[in-house]
Amino acid sequence: MNNNNEVTLSAPLSGPVLALAQVPDPVFASGTMGDGIAIDPTDNCLVAPCAGEILHVARTLHAITLRADNGAELLLHLGIDTVQLNGEGFHLQVQPGMRVTPGQPLLRFEMDRVARHSTSLVSLIIVTNGTHFRAERLAPERVRAGEPLLRLVGNQATGAVTDAAGESVEGSASVAHVGGLHARPAARLRQVAQGFDCSAQLRHEGQLADVTSLVAVMGLGVDQHAQVQVICRGPQREAALAALLKALGTAIAGDHPAPAPLPLPAAAMQAPGMLAGVCAAPGLASGPLVLLGGVTLPADPGGHVASEQQRLLDAAVAGVARALALAQAQAQMREDATEQAIFAAHLALLEDSTLAQAAHAAINTGRAASHAWSDAIDTQCRVLHATGKPLLAERANDLLDLRQQVLRELLGDSARPPLPRGAIVAAQELTPSDLLYLHEQGAAGLCMAAGGATAHVAILARGKGLPCLVAMGDALLAQAMGTPVVLDADNGRLELTPSAQRLDQVASQLAARQARQQLQQAHAHEPARTRDGSVIEIGANVASRQDAEQAHQAGADGVGLLRTEFLFVDSHAAPDATQQVAAYRAVLDAMGDKPVVIRTIDVGGDKQLDYLPLPVEANPVLGLRGIRLASVNPQVLDQQLRALLRTGQPERCRIMLPMVTEVDELLQVRQRLAQLADELGVTQLPQLGVMIEVPAAALLAAQLAEHADFLSIGTNDLSQYTLAMDRDHAGLAARVDALHPAVLALVAHTCAGARLHGRWVGVCGALASDPLATPVLLGLGVQELSVSPPLVAEIKARVRDLDLAACQAQAPQLLALPGAAAVRQACHRHWPLNA
Ligand code: PEP
Ligand code: MG
Repeated sequence: MNNNNEVTLSAPLSGPVLALAQVPDPVFASGTMGDGIAIDPTDNCLVAPCAGEILHVARTLHAITLRADNGAELLLHLGIDTVQLNGEGFHLQVQPGMRVTPGQPLLRFEMDRVARHSTSLVSLIIVTNGTHFRAERLAPERVRAGEPLLRLVGNQATGAVTDAAGESVEGSASVAHVGGLHARPAARLRQVAQGFDCSAQLRHEGQLADVTSLVAVMGLGVDQHAQVQVICRGPQREAALAALLKALGTAIAGDHPAPAPLPLPAAAMQAPGMLAGVCAAPGLASGPLVLLGGVTLPADPGGHVASEQQRLLDAAVAGVARALALAQAQAQMREDATEQAIFAAHLALLEDSTLAQAAHAAINTGRAASHAWSDAIDTQCRVLHATGKPLLAERANDLLDLRQQVLRELLGDSARPPLPRGAIVAAQELTPSDLLYLHEQGAAGLCMAAGGATAHVAILARGKGLPCLVAMGDALLAQAMGTPVVLDADNGRLELTPSAQRLDQVASQLAARQARQQLQQAHAHEPARTRDGSVIEIGANVASRQDAEQAHQAGADGVGLLRTEFLFVDSHAAPDATQQVAAYRAVLDAMGDKPVVIRTIDVGGDKQLDYLPLPVEANPVLGLRGIRLASVNPQVLDQQLRALLRTGQPERCRIMLPMVTEVDELLQVRQRLAQLADELGVTQLPQLGVMIEVPAAALLAAQLAEHADFLSIGTNDLSQYTLAMDRDHAGLAARVDALHPAVLALVAHTCAGARLHGRWVGVCGALASDPLATPVLLGLGVQELSVSPPLVAEIKARVRDLDLAACQAQAPQLLALPGAAAVRQACHRHWPLNA
């Protein structure tokens, strides 16, 4: 291997030479793929620009990656949009792994055919690991193949040249993230890569992106389930590769798809006085329509002093970064993982070198900082739109948010117009920071002319319970402002001229809902007793002390599930015994004298922890997860059991094991718990229960109940494994329904097994939080429901409305219905919900 950092690249084609900015493609022109140069070819054979090794050839043959002997990686891309030729008209002359000499033919192509079926023949030579090299143009206006074109000089400042020339490791993974590599997964990858001393790139369909650039990673346009290669170099390349492959193959927890958008109701589109839209967050609201405009940019006279503009831009970007870091920390304190991930992605985008470099380059030509920043964002938005992927195009909204925030800092326009409380806000497209501001201001609903149901702003709106319609068209912005409107997001419409009677009707519906909630809240701390006198325990699912405090205030009768894997989710180091004891005691203390079921760590599958790396598996959901981890890593469970024994609250602290499949797993833990208690001098053992979340456990419930103190059904996993449908699969989201008769049959079987041994059965999966399911679960024999803390009062109220004997008579009959939809319909008929 040649460690000489400098190499001269000769022209791979003959023809006029173009700067990247002149290339008719926003991805290449913006430099997102890396620095380089282009040639408009006049001959039909691409030759090697230097000696090196062929690393990769695109499946469609239009792009070849070559590693020069100094470590520079060169993408030779023939034509624009030539991927759509699917290899036709290209005749490959080399293979991956081959060494080539300068001038050696790599690819011959049929010029006419390729020109006719592509956007342009302009071909590129791009240095894809460009942070390690500086490219100097040598060629004049035109070159002949073989003449000097570019000089690449190793960039010593990065200190990475020797590594770049050193060995690389490669692996590939299928992308698990819902919607592919959009902003949050890209930010996650960047964060993972930054933890290692190495450089990392992703390769997809012949294109390369540095993992540190979010825009470049998003620009690859990688879909969910697509295969991508990861290439790592540097001292920690092996560890980095394993971590990145895992990060690619593991969907972000809670990153669920948007609800299926409602089809535009044809009647609403045509009805006068109505505007139709796509429901991004459900709900009903009324209030005055108020327009929210964006920041307007004053004209730029040009001729600014670059250093001064640079200073202004740096200060503005730093100000926005501080605000984002604060928003991220606040979301973390509220344990709002979704919001936290959105702000983390924004921070990473703000720091993206592609944006900074583009803005700096414009400032150096005399542009004002505001215009330079604005243009840099616009270019990257075009890149995202050019991927043609709706989800990535929606992520352009995140970039627009950053444009707006930085411009506000620069133009001193941070004060926003005051908003009347209860307003229905109309805007071209709102951004996540707008949404937080509007929520604080007491907006009642949101309408956007543009936007999509999967944008971050829509996720936030759903989380805050703000009804929101998107894609309403420009007609929205032309409406008279200040007049009262009704936003019926459930039915995808904005009623522009509601009658006084309609406004009264909406107001009374909203008032009735509010009164009902207040009444429920007033009784939330009382037991949930059915009409015929049976008490059902309503616990809460928590993941932190803060959640437990909220649950206690909300009236929960206890904690039915503490997901301990989330207690230390932000740690890079495993929590020691003292930290664990303190964390468990904090949750127990927050719950007063109520019982707390603490589940031992449940990693694997969709849940990953930085401090507990697991091997990459082909089928992680069917692999080493839950209690199975104890067989390969017994010290993790031992440490947790010791900490639980040391909480000193044996009556209230209950231990629960996840993903149990057979009775031996329980017996081993029971035995180990007794040994550890002995060692610690603890005489009273806590209750030990198991989760029923795989069909095997449900079918063996009687055996398990003989040795367990209680059983708690995890309907999320039980549905996944019973229906053989990934619980995170976007396309199957509507079908992974725990009210499926097969899942209900397993619930019934579990309760019957537990009854034989006098054990109680709870449900801690999401079905427990669904009021439609309450009568079914009670009727099948469930005695405890552990729900999301904000729903405690509502589920208790639902229980009080039910007659247990009637539920017991009706529920078993649902098992004979043909599917989940039929069960839902029957539930609506037998036990209607309040409107
Ligand atoms: C479940 O599977 O239903 C459950 C409660 O566990 P988790 O969602 O944490 O996998
Ligand atoms: Mg589970």
